[in-house]
Amino acid sequence: LEQEVRMAHGDVAAESSSIANFGALLDRANIWRAYALYENGEIRLSHEELAPVRSFFERSRDYVQHEAVFFERERQLDTIFTAFVHDTRRGLAQGGLRLCEYATMADLLSDGLRLSQGMSRKNALAGLHWGGGKGIIALPPSAPSIEAYKEARFAKERKRLFEAYGRFVASLGGVYYTAEDMGTVTADMNVLLANNRFTTCIAADHGGSGNPSAHTAWGVFRSMQAAWQFLHGTDDLKGVRVAVQGAGNVGAPLIENLHRVGAKLIIAEFAPTLREKMRGHYPGAEVLDDHEKIFDADAEIFAPCARGNVLNPNTIARLRVQLVCGAANNQLGERHDAELLHEKKILYVPDYVCNRTGIINCADEWAGYLEEDVAQATERLYPDTLNVLRRAQARGISPAVAADSMADAAAAELHPMFGHRGRRLIDHLVRSGWSARRAAEPLS
Ligand code: NAD
Repeated sequence: LEQEVRMAHGDVAAESSSIANFGALLDRANIWRAYALYENGEIRLSHEELAPVRSFFERSRDYVQHEAVFFERERQLDTIFTAFVHDTRRGLAQGGLRLCEYATMADLLSDGLRLSQGMSRKNALAGLHWGGGKGIIALPPSAPSIEAYKEARFAKERKRLFEAYGRFVASLGGVYYTAEDMGTVTADMNVLLANNRFTTCIAADHGGSGNPSAHTAWGVFRSMQAAWQFLHGTDDLKGVRVAVQGAGNVGAPLIENLHRVGAKLIIAEFAPTLREKMRGHYPGAEVLDDHEKIFDADAEIFAPCARGNVLNPNTIARLRVQLVCGAANNQLGERHDAELLHEKKILYVPDYVCNRTGIINCADEWAGYLEEDVAQATERLYPDTLNVLRRAQARGISPAVAADSMADAAAAELHPMFGHRGRRLIDHLVRSGWSARRAAEPLS
């Protein structure tokens, strides 16, 4: 209680607040919707009760003048909906929706702020006219785990959750376009789509492009080949030992691509069923019993394809590889960890450089879907990766710094037709009293 009272007075940042505490804070203040936005050099809040969020943003290194963060309280399922809008100069904010468990509100905010910034960079570097956004739903307390929440016993509750999030996206009027991401599946996209028209990555039978993961995996593979070419003057990965973390949607097809060219595989996978599957498919591969040991693997390449925050001082100290190139978003614990890799002479292909094909696939579906265009765009990953690495080498900087500066310059370009329309949409939401309205109820 003391913590909540201090939070309510803004003395304490959101660091120590659980999602439940934050929800309770909104309930006490009778807040259904809220925003924090950046305006004329200042953070503006819809409600004074959000002062702890302001103090978090002011102190967080992850906050880089995002245009807006939107919140909605979902009381029935006791959770929080969020939409992060980083930069809409190049286009409306686009980025996947994550359903995830967070210990604190600060963890959730950090994740959303970083991911939406990463999406600005990824979209810009991919040449898409989209800005950076991200959606997050905190896993409701009724769910024992992310995996269990996919079980049939939660089907009704899950549908209700995504319907409500779909209405939240609709209420934002197009400033944020959502998509599939960690913890969400294509079926959830269909539920979202039924509640707004700002959903992408939808199922093929609903006129969309379906699951993009195989394309993402091929893009990561081509980037890896390019980086190997940069290091060794050949892109032949035959006999090269590659440690792959995660054999899920992207990891599994990446493993298959590597297997086909004769790479030697070391695989770490959290789920026992997938470990067994990998053992069955690839008898020559080393499938680790202890997935944590992947950081110590005797390999030349590390491909993180599971979750974020896997490159930090602890893990980097253990890595024995020459190259890190994988699909996972937000691989760096902190931005400085890219410099640690650089100092250790481990070549790092920034995640948003090599994992962009998923979003390219979603973008293509907007104008009707032509898989051949996605394949063509994916092939550009090879020269683009080489370009980033050569630029970094020529300037004596890390690939992360080189990629960030290229991406930030592209993100600053205005959309050729709509200009900075996302900002105007945000202003319109504020003027029209979006935050004073209750969360939309289901249509009866
Ligand atoms: P996924 O959930 O299908 O696969 C992740 C796999 O990693 C799961 O099988 C999980 O059991 C395993 N895992 C989790 N923690 C692990 C650990 N510590 N060690 C070993 N295995 C672990 O997700 P995905 O769609 O394959 O995406 C993987 C990563 O790539 C995510 O970070 C995602 O954001 C990113 N990404 C995916 C796409 C895409 O097209 N799917 C596009 C861009 C980026």
